[in-house]
Amino acid sequence: MLPGRGRDGRAARAARILGTRTAWSAVGDGEFFCPGCGGDRNYQRLSGHRRFTFLGVPVLPRGETGPVVECAACRRHFGTDVLDHPTTTRFSAMLRDAVHTVALAVLAAGGTCARPSLEAAAATVRAAGFDDCTEEQLNALVEALAADTGRVFSEPCGPGLAIELHEALDPLAPHLAPPGRESILLQGARIALADGPYTPAERDVLATVGAALTICAEDVTRLLAAAARTPS
Ligand SMILES: [Zn+2]
Repeated sequence: MLPGRGRDGRAARAARILGTRTAWSAVGDGEFFCPGCGGDRNYQRLSGHRRFTFLGVPVLPRGETGPVVECAACRRHFGTDVLDHPTTTRFSAMLRDAVHTVALAVLAAGGTCARPSLEAAAATVRAAGFDDCTEEQLNALVEALAADTGRVFSEPCGPGLAIELHEALDPLAPHLAPPGRESILLQGARIALADGPYTPAERDVLATVGAALTICAEDVTRLLAAAARTPS
């Protein structure tokens, strides 16, 4: 049988005669982390209009399709859910802000900031990426927090502080592997331990940190105990 003469050949020819074609138009752009080529890239958000084609010529609209996200570098298309994943730049900033917020919360729970706590906190915050963070800056921020809410010291993890912690940590938690989440909690624990054993207020703050990072209460207790046993 000659090619193109059987049932398969007819189907293939029919597909060439009748088909669908999608015309994409850009409806937005931005920067995303491309899972295709693995890095921060520009993207275009495309909305597609499908049309029936006859002999390759679009004839009938077949409705909208997409939207999809097209990578400017590798041109691959993805569902818009790829935009939920933060870019590397955004992720680093989230991580840095998270450590900064945890450090402030732990310091605020300690009441007046002891020098060793401030030093530990500033070193942690600098290591997280705020290169020029100083003890004085942190002290000033803790005092401002206390003056602002008036209840930070009396109510160590009061609503204000808990909201701050959740705002900084909730969006980050889904993008961190368990060791990454534990590392943030442990950095807070070491700041708390810098001036002696945990106070009840510091424990409260660290429990809130653990919960916001979706670490279960049992693991939080275990990690805090392990940090207390390990001299820093
Ligand atoms: Zn790409």
